[in-house]
Amino acid sequence: MQQIKFPSSNISTSRLIYGCMRIAGDNSSHDKTKGKRAIKTAFDAGYTHFDHADIYGDGECESLFGEILKESPNFRDNIILTSKAGIRREPQRYDFSADYLVSSVDGSLKRLNTDYLDMFLLHRPDYLFNAEDVAETFMQLKASGKVKHFGVSNFSPSQVSLLQSALNEPLLVNQIEINIHNISSLSDGTLDQCQQFGMTPIAWCPLGGVVYPAWGNTFSTADEQRIESELAQQAQKYNCLPWQLILAWLLKHPANICPIIGSTTPERIIAAKKSLELNYSHEDWYQLLEARNGQPQP
Ligand code: NAP
Repeated sequence: MQQIKFPSSNISTSRLIYGCMRIAGDNSSHDKTKGKRAIKTAFDAGYTHFDHADIYGDGECESLFGEILKESPNFRDNIILTSKAGIRREPQRYDFSADYLVSSVDGSLKRLNTDYLDMFLLHRPDYLFNAEDVAETFMQLKASGKVKHFGVSNFSPSQVSLLQSALNEPLLVNQIEINIHNISSLSDGTLDQCQQFGMTPIAWCPLGGVVYPAWGNTFSTADEQRIESELAQQAQKYNCLPWQLILAWLLKHPANICPIIGSTTPERIIAAKKSLELNYSHEDWYQLLEARNGQPQP
């Protein structure tokens, strides 16, 4: 699997990241066994970066991963472990207070059976965040050895700039929704900023809008049919599956987008790698965008 270095750091990530949001399934022993198999399949297939959050499966996803780390301690040294916090449940609130973030990290470390996170991300922007306070919390987490690197998720470009202005550490990533349905990052400055600041954009729910309806779906049946038909034509040309083209479409962007693969099906986890081999053309990238938009480029 292709590895890329996070600019302004000494760590590298596999170009496809494995997302652990679904690994505990419905918490049944059947689903957990399947989840463990998915993790092992991903590792064997060359995924070296695993994405978590404190809230995935109400902590069960991290706990399941922690079981694997306990069973195979040398696994830890060969991977990058990311977790996120900042979303408090019941009622759902975004909270970047020092107490909350530090206790969330402590909880993640305990569940994951590890001493440190390679990367810690703020999950969703707390509209009431104070950049200086968050920077101080990050420094505390770094000084204690609990977190090595930092990043954000779902931040607007101005929120990134604000936080970065208070930090001496580079923010390594912005984890955002990018898929054929949600293309706002192409034009709202997010991907431009990533390139300018040397941040890596990480795409969550990369297959949304194709294999399942994306968040806040606005596609009509006609939209879906146009996209499906374009993908079918391109799949013939590239001799691949339609969803692999969606990943190739993301990978084509010069910001070095890293899609997070969330399937728990071993065959799909492995098959996603085909997207890295497709020599996807500039022309086909635009053809798919036009199929999505239902109109030619202006
Ligand atoms: P995804 O890879 O777009 O979707 C995976 C889902 O699609 C699974 O349910 C999978 O089912 C299904 N699927 C995949 N290929 C399929 C196909 N060909 N046909 C039918 N179904 C198919 O990603 P995701 O799981 O939604 O998200 C990936 C990761 O992003 C998460 O694990 C999490 O780490 C991260 N995330 C972050 C945020 C954030 O706010 N930062 C939000 C959401 C997610 P099977 O398991 O049955 O294969």
